Amino acid sequence: MRRIWIVVVTLVLGAGLLAAPAAAGEPPIKLPASPRGLKAPVTLPDGVDPASPYLPQVSCSPVDMAGVLKLRNLVLKTYGEGGKGGISRGCTDGLSEHSEGRAWDWMVDVHDKSEKAAAANFLSWVTRKDGRNARRLGIMYVIYNKKIWSVYNTKGGWRSNSGHTDHVHVSFSWNGARGNVSFWTGKVGRIDYGPCARFKGTYAARTSTPRATACATPGPLLAKTSLGQRAYGRTGATVKKAQRLLDVPMTSRFDKATWTAVRRYQRTHDIPRTGVLDHPTWASLSPADVTYRAVEGYTRDEAIAYGIDHYSDGVIAPGRAARPVVFLQTALGLPRTVRNGFYGSETRAAVKQVQKRAGLTADGIVRGEEWKALRAQQG
Ligand SMILES: [Zn+2]
Repeated sequence: MRRIWIVVVTLVLGAGLLAAPAAAGEPPIKLPASPRGLKAPVTLPDGVDPASPYLPQVSCSPVDMAGVLKLRNLVLKTYGEGGKGGISRGCTDGLSEHSEGRAWDWMVDVHDKSEKAAAANFLSWVTRKDGRNARRLGIMYVIYNKKIWSVYNTKGGWRSNSGHTDHVHVSFSWNGARGNVSFWTGKVGRIDYGPCARFKGTYAARTSTPRATACATPGPLLAKTSLGQRAYGRTGATVKKAQRLLDVPMTSRFDKATWTAVRRYQRTHDIPRTGVLDHPTWASLSPADVTYRAVEGYTRDEAIAYGIDHYSDGVIAPGRAARPVVFLQTALGLPRTVRNGFYGSETRAAVKQVQKRAGLTADGIVRGEEWKALRAQQG
């Protein structure tokens, strides 16, 4: 028994000496030791951007993001090989950063000698030195020839994946996708956790501002409908129904015109601007199809009384999505189509009016005084 152990230990140690680093998986193709890399348009700082954690798709958008476009242009210009490939695509095929314009497919075929050589140079340059250049560009992971390498698991090296023999897939973190990384700005970036979903089971609304902390847990849906969630790229009668209600061409395809119309509708009805036909949007667009509302049957006076009793000691601030906001929206006398529990710009404008009339600071934050003012103004 002891002799077997000695043999095993010797073999493991021997293998470790030969294949350094021991834990790293082999690359998908042979990578050059001194690769031709990309040249930054700015002077690079000494520090390197932090490695982003895996940040999976949370939103749905047909817009190619700025940092992704910049990298595509530079890669094509530097190597002069392969097809341009796609960035954004529909939100119909499961989780993918492509669905939010945060990934790029560089069409370089592993069976084409010069394309493969270009891919080898790029991948070597991106992944070498513990992913230093990936961090500078905000690249989250790359996939090629059935292998994946990720900046959040550099010790794992190249791990098994599927397909991708005719293109290199490049996924970006949010700071990389926005272009907020040292490779483009000359300043070390921070981790950007991206947008947050407001209601459970919905996509996140896109924001232009970076976020340094993780998302709060989304609140429960405050209204449900018999209609299914529909996002960019989907086709069918349910999409057509929305197009009729939104007064856009009835193509039955969730196209860019529909996406724009959904976002516009959401903005004017205090619905998180997901660009998706989700339950909050359907409940507003098509009240006849509502099957559940968390808050139902309160008159304006009753909602004010409820607010005074339950929320006087708390604070309701813009951006919140929760049951108290429905009471606030009802107490403010907002139209039914806006009373969805998300505190957006319509609600804020109404709160500020109440505050101004009552001589309170018009900051949109609802405390005990605001509930009292609502009652006084309702008379
Ligand atoms: Zn891809």
